[in-house]
Amino acid sequence: MVALDAKVSAVVGGPTAKALDTHLGLRTVGDLLRHYPRRYVERGALTPFADLVVGEHATVFAEVQSTSGKRLRPSLFKTDVVLKDAEGYRMTLAIFNRPWVDKDLRAGRRAYFSGKVERFRDKVQLSNPEYQLVEDDAGVVTEEFAGALVPIYPAAAKVPSITVQRSVRMALELVDLGPDPLPPDLVARHRLVRLEQALQMVHRPTSYGDVTRAQKRLKWDEAFVLQVVLAQRRAVTRSLTGTPRAVRSGGLLAAFDGALPFALTSGQLEVGQRLAKEIGEQAPMYRLLQGEVGSGKTVVALRAMLQVIDSGGQAALLAPTEVLAQQHARSLRAMLGPLAAAGELGTADQATRIALLTGSLGAAARRTALAEAASGEAGIVVGTHALLSEGVSFADLGLVVVDEQHRFGVEQRDALRAKGASPPHVLVMTATPIPRTIAMTVYGDLEVSTLTELPKGRAPITSAVVPLHEHPAWLDTAWTRVREHVAQGRQAFIVCPRIGGDETEEPAKDGRKPAVAVLDVHLALVHGPLEGLRVEVLHGRLPPEEKDAVMQRFSRGETDVLVATTVIEVGVDVPNATVMVVLDADRFGVSQLHQLRGRVGRGGHPALCLLITEAEAGSPSRVRLDAVAGTNDGFALSQVDLEQRREGDVLGSVQSGTRSSLRMLTLLRDEDVIREARVEAVALVDADPMLAGQPALRQAVVDLLDEERADFLEKA
Ligand code: ADP
Ligand code: MG
Repeated sequence: MVALDAKVSAVVGGPTAKALDTHLGLRTVGDLLRHYPRRYVERGALTPFADLVVGEHATVFAEVQSTSGKRLRPSLFKTDVVLKDAEGYRMTLAIFNRPWVDKDLRAGRRAYFSGKVERFRDKVQLSNPEYQLVEDDAGVVTEEFAGALVPIYPAAAKVPSITVQRSVRMALELVDLGPDPLPPDLVARHRLVRLEQALQMVHRPTSYGDVTRAQKRLKWDEAFVLQVVLAQRRAVTRSLTGTPRAVRSGGLLAAFDGALPFALTSGQLEVGQRLAKEIGEQAPMYRLLQGEVGSGKTVVALRAMLQVIDSGGQAALLAPTEVLAQQHARSLRAMLGPLAAAGELGTADQATRIALLTGSLGAAARRTALAEAASGEAGIVVGTHALLSEGVSFADLGLVVVDEQHRFGVEQRDALRAKGASPPHVLVMTATPIPRTIAMTVYGDLEVSTLTELPKGRAPITSAVVPLHEHPAWLDTAWTRVREHVAQGRQAFIVCPRIGGDETEEPAKDGRKPAVAVLDVHLALVHGPLEGLRVEVLHGRLPPEEKDAVMQRFSRGETDVLVATTVIEVGVDVPNATVMVVLDADRFGVSQLHQLRGRVGRGGHPALCLLITEAEAGSPSRVRLDAVAGTNDGFALSQVDLEQRREGDVLGSVQSGTRSSLRMLTLLRDEDVIREARVEAVALVDADPMLAGQPALRQAVVDLLDEERADFLEKA
């Protein structure tokens, strides 16, 4: 018997073990058993060739129609094999330098062929495939294909599905799974099969019913262990002793509220009260605040910061980019006015200061900012990653606000948290609406608040797709719109997928021409449709000071039009900007477009967003763009996004451990399992926080955390 953490070489030969590791990343017996079939084929059913996808490794079951071999050069022997599929379609394979194959592949024989699907002279073919006969010479069906359903595994050229299948079988026979990680009462309550059964049924099913039952159980494993990890994290956070920062009357917060030029929305009030209460408690708050762009999160966060400052603490605001950090500092200063000008003449007693700390600061400015943070003179310290570095210290860090969370990992949040004398309260803000299942998994250790309404008086954003494929001339009307808005004193963003200039150009993939570039568009516009307007460019290659200067000029209305990359995607707040033109809009993701669009219509003037594309009507790109133009509901769009993109991309860099630990579970389709697992996990962790009564589950948790850490290190 071998354990789950035994090397694969304990169950298969050295070369196979090495190939499984190199090509599929399968190192342990556990990895192998959790390498689930991608699909199943019914015994004897030929594969329709029409389903093959170019570029994939596929295994097809087909009948040989004819075989012919010839020597092309002294060292090159080629065998052409013509195959027939279920619908009578034919495919020709070329097999090189294996002259003996014609003995196996005689007309009428059926076999599995595995290889990469390629297009060759307009025809789809498998390149130099491996094959596996179903019957031996005596017509006896070989063992692998005796089952009613044949599992087809994710495979690689050097490791075809059949090799995986054989290896998994060996592992199934030899493995000692140990005790089941799921508590027996949970297994019974949810009518799950035992782990051992589930693994047998997923790898060697006798029916699709087996597969379904096995999948349900294996999804539970993944969902439950993950939710236990998250429940434990929440329990740990709750058990920490932080510093209560109760609301104090007559302080900064009161002065700020008194001077606020608008009434808070009921959502802002409600969330604000909740934050005020939690920050006033000893257990540190650990909360995610999500809300559409412009829903007023920053105001809510600022009020929480002021409460902390009133009670003697400091707040740190962590932003993902320099531009955003600068902008945050500027807009916080603007909102606070004299309240943020401590030390200057004629300011109120309770006034504080805002320090800005970014990587590009000069030495003197950096020293000042560091000193203000360390002395407590700065009530608010705004910064990028630079805030996390070792030289940064606070007099009394009471609240950490993280903006646009999806760009930071748990580790970074923790690094900043560690700078408090006692664990600070944490507020994470995100403007990317997160589908519920993702909120429950990726952000499952945070409590969630959502701002659902936009402040009143916000003018609607009208969005439209401009289809150049059908109407090339409509591009001109886009520029006309821009000129109209500018003529009324408004401003415009023009967004391009690429910077251009001396970039090393990627060769255009799949025959598409390169996307339009900021620098080219800028030139063409200032000498063409937008001649006479004040047009500037903003992109990631500009030096930080210049980026900041460009943004400031645009903020002050000294520029009419900003031609930019997605650097403006998050947080940029220029209320006077009312029109956005996105060029080659199909190059952007759904959520990204929604995010970009949030940059206009922030100041009460009706706004317009034009999505320019050359994609044809009915193409997947156009469907996505139509979805964006069709609704302003970010949550609906995040669902579209999740459906359209591979989940790994959606989770992206958020927490790669989470991603790689999910093999069977899909965040899109398995909401029920995730929700139920969360309820079970919370109950279990409440009753037995250290999992003392669940040694096998405890081990599964340790394994998951190890995997997460390993992934993180690999990424870092
Ligand atoms: P978010 O951070 O969610 O994108 P902000 O807090 O930056 O939103 O708010 C966007 C704009 O709306 C800012 O100019 C802000 O001053 C303004 N704002 C916030 N709350 C309100 C409100 N209740 N009524 C009117 N305007 C508001
Ligand atoms: Mg904001």
